[in-house]
Amino acid sequence: MYVLGCIDRRVTIYSQQVRGLNLAAALVAGEQVSVDDDVVVVGAGAAGLTCAAGLRRLGAKVTVLEKNSTILSLFRLGSQRWLHPGVYDWPLDGWNRDRAGLPVLDWEHGQVNSVLRQLEDAWEQEGDGANLCFDVGLIGIGDAGEQPRRVTWETGTARTRTVILAVGFGLEPTPLADERSYWEADSFDYDRKDGPQRWLVSGCGDGALTDLFRLCIQDFRHDRVLLDFTEDQRMGELREQIRQIEANASIQRDPAKLHDAYEHLNAPWVVEAMQQRARSHNVTLVAPTADFLNAQASPLNRFLAGQLFRARRFRFLQDRLKSVDRANGKVVVRFKNSAVQHFDRIQRRHGPESALASGFPAIAEAVEKDRRDRQVRPTLTDQTRDRFWVAGAFGEPRTPGGVAAARAAAARTSPRREQRPNAGAFQPDSANHIAGSTQLDRDAAAAFVDDPNLARVEDELGGVRIRPSRPASPDAEGSQFESASRNESQGQTLLASTLIVVIVGCLVLLIVIWSL
Ligand SMILES: Cc1cc2nc3c(=O)[nH]c(=O)nc-3n(C[C@H](O)[C@H](O)[C@H](O)COP(=O)(O)OP(=O)(O)OC[C@H]3O[C@@H](n4cnc5c(N)ncnc54)[C@H](O)[C@@H]3O)c2cc1C
Repeated sequence: MYVLGCIDRRVTIYSQQVRGLNLAAALVAGEQVSVDDDVVVVGAGAAGLTCAAGLRRLGAKVTVLEKNSTILSLFRLGSQRWLHPGVYDWPLDGWNRDRAGLPVLDWEHGQVNSVLRQLEDAWEQEGDGANLCFDVGLIGIGDAGEQPRRVTWETGTARTRTVILAVGFGLEPTPLADERSYWEADSFDYDRKDGPQRWLVSGCGDGALTDLFRLCIQDFRHDRVLLDFTEDQRMGELREQIRQIEANASIQRDPAKLHDAYEHLNAPWVVEAMQQRARSHNVTLVAPTADFLNAQASPLNRFLAGQLFRARRFRFLQDRLKSVDRANGKVVVRFKNSAVQHFDRIQRRHGPESALASGFPAIAEAVEKDRRDRQVRPTLTDQTRDRFWVAGAFGEPRTPGGVAAARAAAARTSPRREQRPNAGAFQPDSANHIAGSTQLDRDAAAAFVDDPNLARVEDELGGVRIRPSRPASPDAEGSQFESASRNESQGQTLLASTLIVVIVGCLVLLIVIWSL
C-alpha cells in the first residue's frame, strides 16, 4: 500500500504528478506490477490520475475510486488562482518553464480553469480503459496478510496486490460565512466600493503568505511578480545567497536562524516595486511564532514576505487566535495574549483537514511519525520533484514495441537527479521516498516489532504494519531499482549460456554427421 505524498508539506500539483509517475515507474521496475495486474488508486485528483495514466501506459489494469462525483474536484471550486509548474522551484534555474513537460497529463501554466481543461482533455485520452468509480463512500482495505488484498466500496470490490492512496490534503475549514478555502472563489483581488478594509491573515505557510501578497500588492500573480521583481540583474547575488541559506543544514534546522537569514535579505528594488504597487488595505499577519519566515513556506514566499515587511505593507503580530466572532458587521478577534481587535475580514490559513485522517484514520496514524519528520525538510534540496524515470519510460504504447517497449524503458528507470544546490548534503532517506510515498508493508515490519507505536498500528490495521524509512545512504536511491538491473544482468547471463549450449550442440551434431 502506498500513500502518495498526502503527509508532506509544500507540495504542488506538479510535484504530486511527478511522485505519481515515479511510483508507477518504480512499481514496474521493481516488478511489483506486471502487465494486466490490477492496481487500485484511491483519489481522482492530479496525483491519482497521473499515476493511474502512467500505470495504464505500462500495461496495468487500473481502478480509480473517487469519493466525489467528478475527477479533479478541487479545481472545480471556482478558484481564480494561477497555477504554474515551476514557480516554487525559484530560485533554481529553469523555474520559469511554462509547461510541466510530463509524459502524461501534461499542462501549461494558467488559471485553475485552464489547467483543469487541459488535464480533463489529457485524461480523456489516457484514461481510456481505466475503471473509474465515483461516489464510492467508505472504502475498506483488506488485511495485508491476505494477498491479493480485497478492496471494497459501496458498489463494488476489487482484488489487488497494490493499493495507492492519492487522497490529497483535504480542504481547509472555513468557519465564517465569508471565509474561503484556498481553492474556492474569493474576492480578495477586487477592491470594494466602500474603500480599504482591515484584514487579518492568520498563518505563515504558503497559503497565508500568498493571500497576504494578494491583499497588499496590486495584481499579484506569482509568476508575474517574479519576472517583474526578481529577474532584475541585481538579483544574481541574492539568488545565490538564498541557495546557500537553503543548503545550510544548521540554518534549516533552526526556525529563528532561517527567519533571520530571510529577514536580512535586502532587495531595495523589490521593496520599491511593492510600494509602487501597494493596495490600500490595512493588513495584519498573525502567527504563533516570531519566526514567521520559516520552513512552512517556500523560499520564494519567504523572500517576498521579507521584502513586503521591509516595504511596511503589513503589520506582524505574534499571537494565537482564541476566538473569532462576527458582531455589528465586524470580525471580533480575541487573541491569547493581546487585546481584542476588530477587523473587516479574516482569512485563516491553518492548513487543510487531513483527507487521509478522515478517510483512513488508522493509516494516517501509522504514518504520523513520518509526517512529523517531513515538516522540517529543506525545500530546494527536496527530491520529491525529481524525476526518476528514464526518457521513454512512459512511451506511447501504440508505437512499435507497444506496452512491452514502454515497460522495458520503465524497467531501466534509474535515479536521474536534477542538479540541485547542495544535492549531496541532503540525504535521501529511503527508496520509499524516491517514489514520494510511504509504503506500508507487513514483511518489512518484522525488524521493528519492538516499537510500541508499531504494535498499536498492527492492532488497528489488523496486520498491516508500517515500514519506517531505511537509514540514509548516498546510494539509497538506487535500491528501488536494484532488482531491475539485477534481472537485466541475470537475463544477459542466461542468454549467453543459451548461446554457448546451442553452439556446442551444433558442433557435436556436425562432428557426428561428419564421422558418419
Ligand atoms: C492552502 C493550499 C495552497 C496550495 N497552493 C498551491 C499552489 O499554489 N500551486 C500548486 O501547484 N499546489 C498548491 N497546493 C497543493 C495542491 O493543492 C496539491 O498539491 C494538489 O491538489 C495535490 O493533488 P492530489 O491529487 O494529491 O490531491 P487532490 O487534488 O486533493 O485530490 C485528491 C482526490 O482524492 C479524493 N479523495 C479524498 N479522500 C478520499 C476518500 N476517502 N476516498 C476516495 N477519494 C477521496 C478527493 O475527492 C480528490 O478528488 C496548495 C495546497 C493547499 C492546501
